[in-house]
Amino acid sequence: MSTLFLRTLREDPVDAELPGHRLLVRAGYIRRVAPGIYSWLPLGMRVLAKVEGIIREEMDRIGSQEVRFPALLPREPYEATGRWTEYGPNLFRLKDRKDSDLLLGPTHEEMFCLAVKDLYSSYKDLPLALYQIQQKYRDEARPRAGILRGREFIMKDSYSFDVDQAGLQKAYDAHREAYVRIFNRLGFEYVIVHADSGAMGGSASEEFLAINANGEDTFVRDEHGYAANVEAVEVPQAKPVQVTVGPAHVEDTPDTPTIDTLVAALNANHPRVDGRSWTSADTLKNVIVMLVQPDGTREPLAIGLPGDREVDPKRLEVKVAPATVEPFEEKDFAANPALAKGYIGPGVLGESRASGIRYLLDPSIADGSAWVTGADEHGKHVLDLVHGRDFTADGTIQAAEIRDGDISPDGNGTLTLARGIEMGHIFQLGTKYAEALGLKVLDEHGKLVTVTMGSYGVGVTRAVGVVAEDNHDELGLAWPREVAPADVHVVATGKDPAVFVKADEIVRSLVEQGIDVIYDDRPKVSPGVKFKDSELIGVPTIVVVGKGLASGVVEIKDRRSGDRREVPVEAIIDAVVTEVNGS
Ligand code: ATP
Ligand code: MG
Repeated sequence: MSTLFLRTLREDPVDAELPGHRLLVRAGYIRRVAPGIYSWLPLGMRVLAKVEGIIREEMDRIGSQEVRFPALLPREPYEATGRWTEYGPNLFRLKDRKDSDLLLGPTHEEMFCLAVKDLYSSYKDLPLALYQIQQKYRDEARPRAGILRGREFIMKDSYSFDVDQAGLQKAYDAHREAYVRIFNRLGFEYVIVHADSGAMGGSASEEFLAINANGEDTFVRDEHGYAANVEAVEVPQAKPVQVTVGPAHVEDTPDTPTIDTLVAALNANHPRVDGRSWTSADTLKNVIVMLVQPDGTREPLAIGLPGDREVDPKRLEVKVAPATVEPFEEKDFAANPALAKGYIGPGVLGESRASGIRYLLDPSIADGSAWVTGADEHGKHVLDLVHGRDFTADGTIQAAEIRDGDISPDGNGTLTLARGIEMGHIFQLGTKYAEALGLKVLDEHGKLVTVTMGSYGVGVTRAVGVVAEDNHDELGLAWPREVAPADVHVVATGKDPAVFVKADEIVRSLVEQGIDVIYDDRPKVSPGVKFKDSELIGVPTIVVVGKGLASGVVEIKDRRSGDRREVPVEAIIDAVVTEVNGS
């Protein structure tokens, strides 16, 4: 440590929201350069190499071959698949001196597809799986928690190539198993959830989420093993019900622009015939948003859902992608006089009605069910408006929030919500990219067939961040052995030269045994500072060579459990080797 490029910090970095991130900076693993852009220092490089090593081993084990593509890429292939535009503001675009468009790769489906097209032409060449561990660039709207969501980050991305669905399924299953092994080795507590296929298009898709209360992803589980990202939850279409109400009627409901004011007014002035009180779940709320297409085109969308639910922005976003969602503003209301703000109802919504706005309903709105909803006039609502009898929509949309206690999509379970961090994503792309870029091979009958692809990603730098979030205490980091920057941290304390001579000797013997050592050999640093640093850095085994040496003992500490014991100095090498190989 007298020569290691390291300065540990006693103060927390001001911009760090999460404890693992704070500690990675304080313990000298990473340094921030700009929002979402980090440098890796020597200790960080060691952890990164360990994580990459695990991933590499598991990818090699399933027969995937390592390659490396550039991060600086030409526009044309991304134009051919539509992603130059679809990626929107998340894509880093740049120009070279000849004014040609380039981009910094956010993910590499196009390049891998073209490389295979370039070299292969027959079914005999397949199956094939390739991977790389490489820097990716995304101009994330909200870079977060240091390396958890970076604008430059390292991803392991793999791609599989097969002639048919059976082959793709096999490649997908192999990757799934490799990911299970990778995340087990990294020591994560994780769930595998059904994922939305999002903008990429395609069918089967699952995500590996590290369970973490600070995660940005929300997922649901039920008691029968169903697990899905909330974005992917498909609420079943409610079955038609018998109409039980008379004709719809418009009522005066002055000053009731919100659901709460409406429910209060209904209970005060329009009691239900069946005697129970009105609740927000009896109202049909119509939410209007503005969709903005990647080319800038703006088009409003109306969503009808029960008044006790909100639209979930993330669920909506994946349903309308590649469009993005913006609020419907005062000026938009002004431009559409058919809309009575606060009193909007199905009477004017729909492509063929007065507003011309596309109108989609939540699938929980059953055919035959009766609602209170806006009458499209200020201060008026319509009661007993029956879906299918009195109004229809242009279709349905899965955009309402999912709540704890909701019924599972299969109708047999109850959902609970939790938070996670997406660590990996496996994905059956199918022929989307191969089609767009013309990747075909001759099959065994001499006929050209389009290759079917899978794509599989692991967030490598994000994984380091999550391991840090999962493994720390108030003193510092506490790495699991598989990814720790070293096996043992030897601390030599005091001023006695004999201590340093002995510590040097111990370190040399450990290195000879193949043990990775961080050695605190700093001559003029106090024992207190050295102990603090060893706890902050978080190597799993700490050996203290100091005062005890006079009576022939050194101390061995377990950073994670806090257990410490004295060992006769001549037994320390064996003790450390056992510790390193055993735990
Ligand atoms: P997210 O939903 O978190 O933005 P994504 O679905 O866009 O991620 P993929 O395109 O599936 O991500 O990328 C594969 C993996 O790369 C993700 O599972 C994640 O672990 C990692 N990853 C994605 N974006 C980032 C980022 N900005 N910083 C660090 N890692 C990332
Ligand atoms: Mg993903």
